[in-house]
Amino acid sequence: MDTIILQEPGRFEMTRREDPPREPPPGHALVKVHTVGICGTDWHAYRGKQPFFTYPRVLGHELGVEVVSVNDPTSDLKRGDKCAVEPYLNCGRCIACRRGRSNCCANLRVLGVHIDGGMQQFIIVPTNKLHRSERLSPEQLALVETLGIGCHAAGRAGIEKGETVLVIGAGPIGLSVLPFAAADGARLIVADVSESRLEFCRKTARVEHTIDARQDLLSQLQQLTDNDFPTVIIDATGNAASMQKTFELIAPGGRIVFVGLFPGEVTFNDPNFHKREITLLASRNALPGDFRRIIKLVEDGTVDTRPWITHRAAHHQLIEIFPQWLAPDANVLKAMVRFD
Ligand SMILES: [Zn+2]
Ligand SMILES: [Zn+2]
Repeated sequence: MDTIILQEPGRFEMTRREDPPREPPPGHALVKVHTVGICGTDWHAYRGKQPFFTYPRVLGHELGVEVVSVNDPTSDLKRGDKCAVEPYLNCGRCIACRRGRSNCCANLRVLGVHIDGGMQQFIIVPTNKLHRSERLSPEQLALVETLGIGCHAAGRAGIEKGETVLVIGAGPIGLSVLPFAAADGARLIVADVSESRLEFCRKTARVEHTIDARQDLLSQLQQLTDNDFPTVIIDATGNAASMQKTFELIAPGGRIVFVGLFPGEVTFNDPNFHKREITLLASRNALPGDFRRIIKLVEDGTVDTRPWITHRAAHHQLIEIFPQWLAPDANVLKAMVRFD
């Protein structure tokens, strides 16, 4: 089978590897990879900017697949089933796993990050990491993991109907939050430094207001919320200054969710934190329930995936095209690679 290996930063290599065994180990399924979505993690790995990343590595953690064979009597998956893959392989034994928090397992290994992923024609995965849909296309199935980040972040916030929710950062992560916050009944305000991203939000998402993050956010929010301020802020910037600022923008009693990751220290003023009795939450990866919710919401049309996919390539074109996708003026929101 064709396998694309990232040998070192900046250098992919297409190789032929032997197909995996037809009979997967107990509890696993052999699947054919149809579509692989490319995301920030992959860009960072290619540029050598992903912390704790080791090479060589087969990338690919956003996968639309088809079941070839199953070795698990407890699973009802069968040959031909189309599935999204939950790429977060958890240990099942640690305290997080025992409490149903498999997304932050102490021994987490993510396909395509810590271990080889789906940039190959076949891959073996645990059956409980496959989420079937009879209606989603391979590209939609590959998009489920992307949406999972936002679905989980919205879930962490525990949004009540009619709450004002500020999402800061309208890149792929921020955008993935919007449909789920909207489905929960949020009144959405989106802030970003890029007018074209804000315009994209207004066109494609149910957003009440967009605001320019280069201008003073405090006064803009004061005006838009009649001095109440948002009771939920979801920061998807990964920018320390932005994350720190959320403590000034949140309503008393509000919740702040950091779904973007800043690789360093973020500090806050404790008297302000206390005065407002702020709840601060991190959001990492997603849970099996998020995958099931997303598939249902895409199937019933609540979440429209059409605006998402901006670039496509066949797998044998990837090595040539990948650096072009990296250019800022390529305006890639989500690129999909097709494996035939
Ligand atoms: Zn991703
Ligand atoms: Zn665990």
